[in-house]
Amino acid sequence: MVPMRDPDDQDRKRRQPKMRRRQRTGSRIVDADERPQRYARDKSVRIGMTRVGKGLFARRRYPAQTVIGEIKGEIIDDPHYGSDYCMNVGNGQILEPEAPFRYVNHSCEPNCEFDVFDLPEPRKLNRHRRVFLISLREIKPGEELTIHYHWSAASAIGCRCQSPSCRGWIVDPTQWDTLMARLAAKGTP
Ligand SMILES: [Zn+2]
Repeated sequence: MVPMRDPDDQDRKRRQPKMRRRQRTGSRIVDADERPQRYARDKSVRIGMTRVGKGLFARRRYPAQTVIGEIKGEIIDDPHYGSDYCMNVGNGQILEPEAPFRYVNHSCEPNCEFDVFDLPEPRKLNRHRRVFLISLREIKPGEELTIHYHWSAASAIGCRCQSPSCRGWIVDPTQWDTLMARLAAKGTP
């Protein structure tokens, strides 16, 4: 008898690839049928200063589940690429975002998320992967726009988001035990 590998275990590994470098993940890949209502970047955001550096703020009210703008930038065909701003958009592709959406900070209780859409290109047969910032709840003018970075334990850094549920680390919740084990091994509390 040939020993069988646990298929669930293999599947889990496929869904959660090991991240060697820092990448924002946790986006939804959305069907083209569910495409956003507006494609153009909304000018109703501004870059401002926060206690952790630059951040992005709403200049108007956004209802829940609204496209705030398209996150433009360079698509890099290297799943191991990493930077402080880059976003894993699936298919082994990483987006290095441009301003202003490059400056969306992390929160443990975010008011936005980024969603990935495969949209048809005008006058072309192939589809193009595009990334949009979407509000998760109603956002008032002047509020800072935030997403959850979902960083791996290897990329985790201290979190200063000050939300009630903040656990003090920017890390994917599924990576919490791994992070604690790493810290215990290093002898830090
Ligand atoms: Zn936090």
